[in-house]
Amino acid sequence: PGDTRDRLLEGLNPQQREAVEYRGPALLIVAGAGSGKTSVLTRRIASLLASREAWPSQILAITFTNKAANEMRERVEALVGQKAEGMWISTFHSACVRILRREAEHFGFTRNFTIYDSADSRALIKRIVKDLDADAVGLTVSAVANKISKLKNELSDVESYARQANFNDPNEVMFLECFRQYTRELQRANAFDFDDLLAQTVYLFRAFPGVAAIYQRRFRHILVDEYQDTNHAQYSLIRELTRSPEPEALGPGDTNVRILDDRGSVPPASLTVVGDSDQSIYAFRGADIRNIVEFERDFPNTKVILLEQNYRSTQNILDAANSVISNNFDRKDKKLFTTIGAGEKIVGYTGYSGHDEAQFVADEINALHKSGIAYKDMAVFYRTNSQTRALEEIFIRSALPYRIVGGTKFYERAEIKDVMAYLVCIANPADPLALRRIMNVPKRGIGPATEAALQAHADRDEVSLRESMRSVELLGLGPKVTGAIRELVDLLDELTGIQEKTMVPNLLQTLLERTKYIDALRASRDPQDEARAENVEELLAVAKEFQRNNPGGRLLDFLTEVALVAAADELDDSSGTVSLMTLHTAKGLEYEAVFITGVEEDLLPHRMSAGEPGGPAEERRLFYVGITRARKRLYLSLAMTRSMFGDVSVAMPSRYLQEIPPELIDWRQSPGDATSRGGTQPRALNARREKFSYGGSLPPGPSATRPAIRQHEWANKVTNQVRDNGDLTLEKGDRIRHVDFGDGRVVDVTGAGTKRIAEVQFDTAGRKRLLIKIAPIEKL
Ligand code: ATP
Ligand code: MG
Repeated sequence: PGDTRDRLLEGLNPQQREAVEYRGPALLIVAGAGSGKTSVLTRRIASLLASREAWPSQILAITFTNKAANEMRERVEALVGQKAEGMWISTFHSACVRILRREAEHFGFTRNFTIYDSADSRALIKRIVKDLDADAVGLTVSAVANKISKLKNELSDVESYARQANFNDPNEVMFLECFRQYTRELQRANAFDFDDLLAQTVYLFRAFPGVAAIYQRRFRHILVDEYQDTNHAQYSLIRELTRSPEPEALGPGDTNVRILDDRGSVPPASLTVVGDSDQSIYAFRGADIRNIVEFERDFPNTKVILLEQNYRSTQNILDAANSVISNNFDRKDKKLFTTIGAGEKIVGYTGYSGHDEAQFVADEINALHKSGIAYKDMAVFYRTNSQTRALEEIFIRSALPYRIVGGTKFYERAEIKDVMAYLVCIANPADPLALRRIMNVPKRGIGPATEAALQAHADRDEVSLRESMRSVELLGLGPKVTGAIRELVDLLDELTGIQEKTMVPNLLQTLLERTKYIDALRASRDPQDEARAENVEELLAVAKEFQRNNPGGRLLDFLTEVALVAAADELDDSSGTVSLMTLHTAKGLEYEAVFITGVEEDLLPHRMSAGEPGGPAEERRLFYVGITRARKRLYLSLAMTRSMFGDVSVAMPSRYLQEIPPELIDWRQSPGDATSRGGTQPRALNARREKFSYGGSLPPGPSATRPAIRQHEWANKVTNQVRDNGDLTLEKGDRIRHVDFGDGRVVDVTGAGTKRIAEVQFDTAGRKRLLIKIAPIEKL
């Protein structure tokens, strides 16, 4: 055991060791990025197991993504040297689904409930808004959906909302009705939406102390990573789980002698949370930074441990991160240090356009790759998904292997949703949403009128839509459509009957054959349909893989897994590709080289954050999260013009760039350089530019330390006359000369008018894309 203990503490600094070995009711580890919070949590679990203080089944660890959960499980098992079955390491949502699958029967649901994703709940809300004509008082589908979600995260339900609603306000009255209807429909469909998974579990624990006691007794050690991003519902769940079970809730035989304290009652579970308030980036989803700030008050006798050494990044990267985040007020100042050394400077680049920026990123990735950094150790971050288009175009052209994390939306494709809807119908016969979706897919002659007749029958008899289909013969519909409905409902009932004894791939195969779903796609003349058929086959492959990993798994388990696939779960480290993802998805991850693109006003901070209280501060934390993902190399890039939704607009450097000490950034092309060669709207650009104070971070810009004369020169450079090449016509094969890049040959010309772009192979500077109108070039 001594050996194991040594192995578990090996390489840890004294604070980290303490965090692994401390025993007590509550432990709060607050520390900046990359200081080993997640690593310490992992070792702490291993230490509890290795010392036999806990059985695997007594541990509940909460991570931010399913992928992080899998990693943590693997590391714990490697450290302890054995499989730790029965240990719960999962996201909040997965843990709640597991609990609800066991306990839903207590409050009017059954264990085969459906999980509605946000698209499903929106579809339902849309129907309700339409039925109630909520538009008339100005209620939109989004407004209703957002408000319901917010209320659920605050653990409000229809009754509690009704108690404080203002009944003189027609808008509130209408919203209340929508909320009521929505709740009723979910219940009828035996379905939970995403927010329900948490809220209903909390409700379950509060309403049924006997049920709560099972879990309060079972979990002796609860550990939560990324605690700064928990919302009120998640916080409440933790709170419920860390109470002592009510003595009367403990049935005979329940008393586990091992854990009784000297008064004969079960002490509360011990709680460990780790977090960094500077990385709180989900306030818009109800995450409450106060949860971490007020932890000590909520959990008396809390031990607090601070970690200050960063093991991830070079000093230059850390200095940039520290300096950016110190601009947020209302935070505890903490300075991270590292012994890794200064490392390379941060590289800055200002592209003329998003494409130019993307080309720079691609060229650098190639160079880094040649210098020995694997593709999988590089990542490109952006604020919004709309930025991926330019990156993808260039990456494809440069033959760079890449992968968009969280953007692939496989499960959002229509054909996948269709097949999944069939599976949901099989698992949960009460669900009308799924049934409506597949009623006439593939086409079988069941039109909207027929569906309405079935629904009317269901409403009149207060039965499910599926039940109403079973008695289709009573409805007096035509013989053909009656036959089609009979055939569909019989098929669904048959598959529902065998789901528990059938392997998932076989069930799916049978379904596809009997509905002729793939055949219908293959028979179509639409070339898109062939791709759709392939996607469905891909789903079959997913099912096979699921079955390999979960030999005893059945349809319900498969549906649960699919419903919970979070964005970051699609990451696959083993694949040799560069990862592209949003800054939000990047949380908790690390890479050798990181590119943060679009470091511009309106993107970072995002335009939408301006009106939100605390918005810009949250955006700054997001930037901080991005910077601190980098181990050795950090690139910050922006573009002077950016085309979005077909419009080209002038972009401004992000205010956050000024917050990085200028000596840390090596500008390959500074905003000043790029502006002197213009943008597509020169006058507007210069007018805005003068108002913008560059601060010191954009060399050769002015800074407190630079002599005034330099500031003056620099200002001239920025407001320089914009170049205009007018009608310069270039063709493939032309030789040109560029001010910086030297001579080169035009290899392609695309676009029209003022947006014509030349792709040029320079003799020494590589391949570039130039906006002909404004590029500093001449024809030779
Ligand atoms: P974040 O705030 O970004 O989630 P974190 O605090 O969870 O970061 P970890 O991911 O646990 O930090 O650790 C960052 C890196 O430092 C990892 O690569 C980890 O393996 C390494 N590391 C942590 N502690 C040590 C240590 N004592 N010695 C060497 N490396 C360490
Ligand atoms: Mg972490």
